[in-house]
Amino acid sequence: MSQDAKQLDFLKQKIECEKTARIKAEHQLELKSRELHKANQQLTTSSQNLDQVVTQYKVQLQETHQLAEKATIDLKESLDRLKLIIQASGATTWEWNIHDNSFSCTGTIEGQLARKIKEITCYDHFIDMLHGDDKSHVEQSFSNHLVSGTPIDLECRFLNKQGKYRWFHMVGQKAINRGNNTARMVGSFVDIHDRWESEKTIKKMAHFDTLTNIPNRSFFNKFINDTIATAQLNKAFFALLLIDLNDFKIINDRYGHQIGDALLVNVATVLKSHIKGYDQVARIGGDEFALVLNNIPANGQLDNLCNMLINACGTPVDIAGNKLSSNLSIGIARYPKDGESAERLLRCADMAMYAAKQSKVSGSTFANYHRDMDEEHTRKRSLRDEIESALKEQQFHLEFQPCVEISTGICHSCEALLRWPQMPNNATIQNIIEVAEESGLILPLGKWIIDQACRFVAELEAQNMPQKIGINLSAIQFQHQDLEEIFNSAIKKYQIDPRHLQVEVTENLFLGNMEHAIAILEKLGQLGIEIYIDDFGTGYSSLKYLQMLPIDWVKIDKTFIDGLGVKDENLQIIQAVIKMTHSMGRRVVAEGVESATQYQLLHNIGCNVAQGYHMTPALPGTDCIKWIRANHPFNSNEFIAAHKVSV
Ligand SMILES: [Mg+2]
Repeated sequence: MSQDAKQLDFLKQKIECEKTARIKAEHQLELKSRELHKANQQLTTSSQNLDQVVTQYKVQLQETHQLAEKATIDLKESLDRLKLIIQASGATTWEWNIHDNSFSCTGTIEGQLARKIKEITCYDHFIDMLHGDDKSHVEQSFSNHLVSGTPIDLECRFLNKQGKYRWFHMVGQKAINRGNNTARMVGSFVDIHDRWESEKTIKKMAHFDTLTNIPNRSFFNKFINDTIATAQLNKAFFALLLIDLNDFKIINDRYGHQIGDALLVNVATVLKSHIKGYDQVARIGGDEFALVLNNIPANGQLDNLCNMLINACGTPVDIAGNKLSSNLSIGIARYPKDGESAERLLRCADMAMYAAKQSKVSGSTFANYHRDMDEEHTRKRSLRDEIESALKEQQFHLEFQPCVEISTGICHSCEALLRWPQMPNNATIQNIIEVAEESGLILPLGKWIIDQACRFVAELEAQNMPQKIGINLSAIQFQHQDLEEIFNSAIKKYQIDPRHLQVEVTENLFLGNMEHAIAILEKLGQLGIEIYIDDFGTGYSSLKYLQMLPIDWVKIDKTFIDGLGVKDENLQIIQAVIKMTHSMGRRVVAEGVESATQYQLLHNIGCNVAQGYHMTPALPGTDCIKWIRANHPFNSNEFIAAHKVSV
C-alpha cells in the first residue's frame, strides 16, 4: 500500500474515531442536558415551595405583630385604668428595696400627708412617720411577712406635715426577683381617718343617748355589772334608782316631740348635776332614767336626795314659751341588801318604782324596794300572762246590764260588762282591769270591748230595739289610743247609729291631762256618743268639775246607794248630787240598786235612771234582749209582788 493510501486510511480511521467520539460526546451532552433540565425543574419547585413558606411566615409574622400591638395597647389601657383606680382610691403605693434600704412612695402621699416624695427616701424615714404606738406593730408585721408570709394588712397612724396623726390602712407583700430572691417589698396605704372617726362616733352612739348625751341602757347594763364586781371586791354598798316621768306621753301629745325631747334633756341635766364621783346616770328608755349611787351607807336613807331630784325636776322651766316641769316616780333598790345581780336589782328597783307610781296621789313620789313587792309582782305577772292568753284564745265575752228610767220603767240603756268564765279563782274583774291597765293589755282589751259592744248595738238595731249601750273606758286608752278613730271604725264596721253608744269614764281620767281628756270626750260627743262620769263620789274631783266637763250623765257610785234607806246621811248626799247635777242640765244614774226601797227612794228624790240587781244582774246578749222585751216597761211594784219583797 502506498504511502498515500496508508495516510488516507489513517485519516479515515481518525475521522471514524472522531465521529464515534463526537456521537458519544453528543450523547453525553444530551444526558447532561436532561439532568440539568430535571435539576432546573426541581429548583423551580423548591423555589416555589420556599416562596409559599416565606409568604406563610410573613402572614404569621404580621399577625403576631398585630397581636403584639394589641397587647401593648391593652397593657397601656390596663396600666391607665390601674393608675385611675389607685388615684381614685387615694392610695399611696410604696416600694422598699430591702438590699439598699431605699424607700419610695407615689405622689399621692403629698396630698395625704403633705409630704414631698423626696422626704421619704429610706425605710427609716417611712418608720419615723408612724405613731409611736404603731411602730413596733408595723415592723413586726413586715418581719413576719418576710419570714412566714403572714399578710401585711393593718391599720396605723402616720404623722402629717401639720403635726397631726391620721389613720391609714396598709397592705404589702414581698416581690421575688429573677434569682428567686426577695429583693423588694411593695404595697400601698390608704387614708381611713374619716371612716375611723365615724366608727368612733358610732361606737359612742352605741353607748350614749344622742338626745340627752348621757349613757344609754347598753352602757348602763355593763356599768351596773362592773359596779357589782367592784362592790363585791370592796364589800361596798350602792343604790340603784329607776326614775320614770309621770304622764310624759301627755307632754308629747300636747306640745309635740320637740318640746317633749327638750324636757327629757332638762331631766337628764338635773339628774347629772346630782351625781358625783363614780355615780352614773343613764337614759334607759323613752322617759326612764337610772342612777347608780356609790358609797352610800348600808341602810342609808336616800330621802333627801330623792326629794332634791323631785324638787329640781318639778321646778318649771321655760321651753319654747311653755312653763313645763316633770313629775317623777322613783324606785330604789340597794346592793347587796335587795339583790346581788344586775337583773335582780333592776327588778327590785322596777317594782319599787311601780309601787311609787301606784301610790301617786299627785305629783312625784319615791319608794324603797320591800320584800312584799315580790309576791305582788309575781301574782300580777302571772295574771298578766293569763289575761294575754285569754285575749288570744278569745275567752272573754261581754254581758249587758239594763238600766231603767225610774219614772217610766222603760229600759234606757245597758252597760257592757267584761266577763271571763276561766278567770283565776283568786281574781276579780276589777283585778283584771287593774293588771290590764298596768301592763298595757287594756289597749287591745279595750278595743275588743268597743268592737263587741258595737256588734251588740247592731244586733239590737236589727231587732228594732234601739237601746243605748254603755262602754267603760280606761284613762290609759285616752293616753295611748286614738279613741275617735277606734269608735269611728267600729261604727262604720257595724253600720250602727253612734247615738246608741255611751262611754263611761271615771273622775281619775281628769287627774292627768284634763284638757287632753276633754278634747277627746268632745270629739266623741260630736259623734253623738253620750258621756257618763262613772263611780261618782269615789274619786278626787267634785261637783264643781262637772261644770267644766263635756258630760251628759253622772253615775252615783254603788257605795252611796248601799246605805240608802239605812243612813239618812246617804240620802241627803244623793239628793244634793241629784239636785246640783240637774241644775247643771245633766242627769243621774244610780248604780247598785238592789232593793225596792232603794228604787222607791231614788224615785222620790228624782233620780233619772236605776241600775242594779233590783232590776236584773248583767245578762248575756240574748238574755238581755229577752229581759228588755219582757220588762217593757219594768214595773217595780209587780217585781215587788212577784218576788214578795217589801218596800
Ligand atoms: Mg261603769
